[in-house]
Amino acid sequence: MIGSVEHNRMRIHSAEILSVGTELLLGETLDTNGYFLARQLAELGISTYRHIVVGDNAKRIEKAIADALECNDLVITTGGLGPTADDLTYDVAAKVAGFRLVSDPVINRRIDERFALRKKTRFVACTSISEDKQNVSVVGLAKSHVVYPLVPEGATLFMNENGTSPGALMTFDWPLPTGESRRKAILLLPGPPGEMEPMFLREVRPVLEKLSPERLINRYVHLTGIGEPDAEAAVRDLVDQQTNPTIAVYVRDGDVSFRITQRLAEDGDNEDRTGTLIDLIKERLGVYIYEIGTRSLTEVVCDKLLESGATCAFAESCTGGLAASLMARVPGASNVFKGGVVTYTNAMKADVLGVPDQLLREEGPVSEACARAMAEGLYRLTGADYAVSVTGFAGPAGGTIKYPVGTVFIACRSRLGTRVIERHYTGSRTNIQDRSAYASIDLLYRSIESS
Ligand code: ATP
Repeated sequence: MIGSVEHNRMRIHSAEILSVGTELLLGETLDTNGYFLARQLAELGISTYRHIVVGDNAKRIEKAIADALECNDLVITTGGLGPTADDLTYDVAAKVAGFRLVSDPVINRRIDERFALRKKTRFVACTSISEDKQNVSVVGLAKSHVVYPLVPEGATLFMNENGTSPGALMTFDWPLPTGESRRKAILLLPGPPGEMEPMFLREVRPVLEKLSPERLINRYVHLTGIGEPDAEAAVRDLVDQQTNPTIAVYVRDGDVSFRITQRLAEDGDNEDRTGTLIDLIKERLGVYIYEIGTRSLTEVVCDKLLESGATCAFAESCTGGLAASLMARVPGASNVFKGGVVTYTNAMKADVLGVPDQLLREEGPVSEACARAMAEGLYRLTGADYAVSVTGFAGPAGGTIKYPVGTVFIACRSRLGTRVIERHYTGSRTNIQDRSAYASIDLLYRSIESS
């Protein structure tokens, strides 16, 4: 973070999120920034009153920012910070807030450092002459292409570790119709989620925490193997009675989560009452709970494997490596995840995993017997403590009368034997693949739990 504006004259009760980008209006890009920021603000106790999307048009961005400032303490914009002609947000927001745009030497030095690093990207080797000709031009940006951003003078600037456009927080006096003025703020964030999210979490959130009048305790309970309606029904009376703490139910990455929030008083009784509510949820839904905290199911699985010194491996057909990819996302997965094979065709199932040809002919590749044989073959092949297999019909074509599209068999072989489950999913191909991959991690979790 660079600079520190006099923020303490203001308290942020309400905010509006403004996602800037014509590509968002055209449906080419999903507005995940709005989703991310709305959740972050809720956790900070800042009420989001509105969230809108506006194209790359100076007049419309200006009007949207001014309208948002009429009703809210804070306006957060994402997108339109880059150096191209359609990136207008710095200019427009600085104009509305009455800030001058200037070049910042620290930011420029950071950009130079990034540029120097990118220049190190080089073509190392090739195996054929034609490849060589195609690749010799792959080197870093030409120095002449580097454009230094102009940033609002006096704003708090947030470093962009993954890009060139810094974030900025401008606080200023905004005239009210009564003739008085009120302290307001505009927060400018970059558009690419890979730049915006880390910047927000590392640099922006601590600043907003100080400016939010609310103090909250947020705790999370994550469940797997139960649908949202059943989970919600089990705690409906608690939701109906809730005042403080409150329970919110939502679906996250294929599982159901509860967020328990207690608002703390400015002064007085601030005893943590979230534990009592969590105990009640545990009484009712304990068998489905895999985490009271913030870890994902895959992270919990990796931690449990690590604790017991065990390993796992995946053999996937209809999911094409998705389950293995979920595992590989967890930092430190190499300690517990041996690897995965995608055995999409019958030939690969037979050649790599030793699934008998006769079984494939008689039972078919989507069958309990095939899932079992895949897991057992993988167990022999890799020596992993838990060998998980997935095979199914992801559609839209395929399927049989006995096993229509959406039928998936998942097996897990461990020292205790082989467990196989059958699932039936509806929805698109991607949906079925995602849910199948998630269910395979769920079966692995259950197998570890019962070992
Ligand atoms: P850059 O400096 O890279 O140009 P920027 O801040 O100017 O970043 P934009 O040019 O508006 O951002 O958007 C760059 C890309 O970021 C978009 O093409 C899109 O992929 C992604 N992006 C922008 N806004 C959003 C959003 N609200 N949700 C998800 N992705 C977004």
